[in-house]
Amino acid sequence: MPIHEKSLIRPENLAVHEHLEIEGIDVSGHWSTFIGSRVVTDYNEALEEEIAALPGGEFIHRCWQCGSCTNSCTVNALNPDFNPRYWIYLIRTGMEAELLRDKDIIWQCVSCHKCTHVCPRDVVPEGVMKATAHWLELKGHTPKSRSMIFDEVFSEQVFQTGKIEDGRVIMRFFKRSGQALLQPWLVEMARRMLRNLPLGLMTRMGLASLIKPRTSGWGDARAAIREYVDERQAHHRKALGLDASPGLDASPRLDDLVQAAKEI
Ligand code: SF4
Ligand code: SF4
Repeated sequence: MPIHEKSLIRPENLAVHEHLEIEGIDVSGHWSTFIGSRVVTDYNEALEEEIAALPGGEFIHRCWQCGSCTNSCTVNALNPDFNPRYWIYLIRTGMEAELLRDKDIIWQCVSCHKCTHVCPRDVVPEGVMKATAHWLELKGHTPKSRSMIFDEVFSEQVFQTGKIEDGRVIMRFFKRSGQALLQPWLVEMARRMLRNLPLGLMTRMGLASLIKPRTSGWGDARAAIREYVDERQAHHRKALGLDASPGLDASPRLDDLVQAAKEI
């Protein structure tokens, strides 16, 4: 499979004169194609450091642009515009405006880790994709993704009770992301569970959903997690220069997450 690359010549920079004659020679149409000059003036020299400060982006500096990640990528095989090697190049050279042109597809990484397995430099490109998607959200370039909403719902329940009850996580996720609870696949899954799972297991799952059990002595663990999460979030905000503009920080603090969980 070839390495799919991206043309740096933008369609809007191509100019064609329908009627043009130069020194008596008709060069109309295709023959008069000009490429407009392209000057990048808005480098973000801190872009690589910002991505490296987020989980998954730590080893981006190791990339030597071999293209193996893009060549093996599951999503690239379906959409040639999805190009991890190219985005790593843009990040390392600080071309933020170019990166933002692809902000609506970067989140499409399916975390298959093929890129990570083939990367000769242990860059962990899958992690870089996650860090970049996270960066886009924190900087306010993209709305909160469903995966971020799921992450919040999942974390809230852990922080609140020290346990995960799948049914409640799914219900909260659908509610908060504005999706109908009666998804056809979910109805089918529930039907098959009712048909095939042992009665005792089903009863325990139902009770857990109603009673909302908590891990005993969870308070101390929650305090430790609170300290760690708040510390990491403060680190990320600082690395992305978000302290000066707190309104841009899309990442909720732990206290807010626990409060949100109590209100549902
Ligand atoms: S496979 Fe690794 S070293 Fe090669 S371009 Fe991708 S991230 Fe860079
Ligand atoms: S983890 Fe993401 S970037 Fe890597 S190969 Fe899979 S879809 Fe592509």
